[in-house]
Amino acid sequence: MTENQTNDNQESSQYQYSFDYIQKKLEGKKDSYGMLMKEIVRTGICTECGTCAAVCPVLEWDHILGQPKLVGKCTGCGICYNQCPRTITDPIQLMGEFKTGYVSNTNIPEVIGGQDGGTVTSLLCYMFDEHLIDAAVVTMKNPDDPWTPVAQIITSKDDAIKASGSIYSHSQTVEALMDAIRQDYRSIAFVGTPCNIDAVDKMLSSPAGMLKYFMRAHVLKIGLFCMDSFAPEALYSFFRKDGIDLEKVVKMDINKGKFHIYYDPDKDPVKSYTIKQLDKFKSSSCNFCTDLTAEHADISVGSVGSGPNKNTVFARTGIGAEIIEDAANKGYLTIEPFNAINLNSVLFLAKLKKVSQYNIQKRKVFIVKDTSEEEPRIRTEPEVDQSKVTPELGVRKFVSVKKDIDEENKTLTISITNTVGYVLDDLRIRVVTVEDLFEKRPWVTTINELFPYESIEIDYPLEEKDGEIIYGNVLVEALTDDFGKIYSKTFKLAPKE
Ligand SMILES: Cc1cc2nc3c(=O)[nH]c(=O)nc-3n(C[C@H](O)[C@H](O)[C@H](O)COP(=O)(O)OP(=O)(O)OC[C@H]3O[C@@H](n4cnc5c(N)ncnc54)[C@H](O)[C@@H]3O)c2cc1C
Ligand code: SF4
Ligand code: SF4
Ligand code: SF4
Repeated sequence: MTENQTNDNQESSQYQYSFDYIQKKLEGKKDSYGMLMKEIVRTGICTECGTCAAVCPVLEWDHILGQPKLVGKCTGCGICYNQCPRTITDPIQLMGEFKTGYVSNTNIPEVIGGQDGGTVTSLLCYMFDEHLIDAAVVTMKNPDDPWTPVAQIITSKDDAIKASGSIYSHSQTVEALMDAIRQDYRSIAFVGTPCNIDAVDKMLSSPAGMLKYFMRAHVLKIGLFCMDSFAPEALYSFFRKDGIDLEKVVKMDINKGKFHIYYDPDKDPVKSYTIKQLDKFKSSSCNFCTDLTAEHADISVGSVGSGPNKNTVFARTGIGAEIIEDAANKGYLTIEPFNAINLNSVLFLAKLKKVSQYNIQKRKVFIVKDTSEEEPRIRTEPEVDQSKVTPELGVRKFVSVKKDIDEENKTLTISITNTVGYVLDDLRIRVVTVEDLFEKRPWVTTINELFPYESIEIDYPLEEKDGEIIYGNVLVEALTDDFGKIYSKTFKLAPKE
């Protein structure tokens, strides 16, 4: 055996030792080669560093495809996943720093049956009773429009109890916070989703932060865990069509990938949907969100990781920990220590959220259909039933439309942008030339799904005579089955100057 061979063997046994050690350490984790391929390679965020292939005996670098290739039996140990520079595996990266974790539930009889364990409401009750706060910012249901969230300033325990429960839509909480400060409240508990908390955190800590300058205002940030929220007008219009009476709904709840709707919280839900079914109603901003657990809050509260009617709670700051412990000591809450099993469920969901932005849906196929052959010269088609459109929808601008004439190709380019924060399904764009009250040369373009803020361009061939464009009037209409006619405008075309 040469000296080199001895070194090789030593290195090999050291390598084997490390590999076996890490393999053992990662046992039971779900991260593996399959996830590496799904999350990192197929989404196009792989840097082609080759680390995964370098650390594993059954992975090779495929120089042709520019990605790792399995050449033996994978044990699913997850080492490749854990060494990859693009995966997020560190608990602090996944859910931020915290001082203590608890499983908690309310001891206040009126709060039992709230959203989960009633922890948020109980903390507010404790802080009002103890005069630690003079106001709180919460989100309540709009009495005139059921389940539409309205941010409110409250100053009493009774109002905190009235505000319990989750509404799965964006709420303009910061507006209420600034109103509270203008009204001279100086110690305020602020309840919000992670994006709300980020706004307040920035206003408190960034160099130009607005709240930094209200030195006497103390804001305690209570963050709610949040996987996603929905555009209420789109979601509720879908619910209504599916026979749900929103006036009767007393609770909505997201649990284990399902959205449940209750008329009676003590009975089974009247309807349950998978989150996938409701995906198209999701607010577009949530696709870009990576914070599940409100990493910048003083106290973060969610349901994942604890059983029914309980909350998972993280105290992230000293004041947050003191408030939870004192509320428990004074009998408002029951708290138990958080354990590794609870933490694993939170980390798993937190990772899903961190990596979900890698999978943001790309454009789907749309069909351009020339109907000039089949359509009659004058179209008489039934008007879409406008009663389906709720009054708020009537004033909402769904799409913006721009036009441009391509004189060389003799086409009118119409650019349509989805200006609402959710997917527009089966959007039909009808373009027609209008002459003396008659319609001619109708074209219909059907777009299966137009994603939020996405633009598509449609070319409409212009009428010509002897090679010259005939400039006339063109009517552009946009229609969907869900909302009826959402756009209609006649453009008078003219040659470019
Ligand atoms: C949009 C959204 C998505 C969520 N997603 C998840 C999730 O994926 N996983 C998970 O574990 N938990 C999630 N939660 C948190 C969960 O629904 C509970 O709010 C949390 O567990 C606290 O429960 P609780 O019993 O202490 O709440 P309660 O004591 O009932 O108090 C809830 C508080 O939340 C406030 N609130 C209600 N709706 C909003 C809103 N839209 N914006 C700001 N504040 C609001 C209320 O004013 C009330 O003060 C989500 C919450 C929201 C609002
Ligand atoms: S055996 Fe190799 S490819 Fe399979 S999970 Fe472990 S490191 Fe990854
Ligand atoms: S370690 Fe990660 S980034 Fe590097 S090549 Fe493998 S998959 Fe790509
Ligand atoms: S998913 Fe993110 S952006 Fe959407 S409501 Fe929740 S915290 Fe806000």
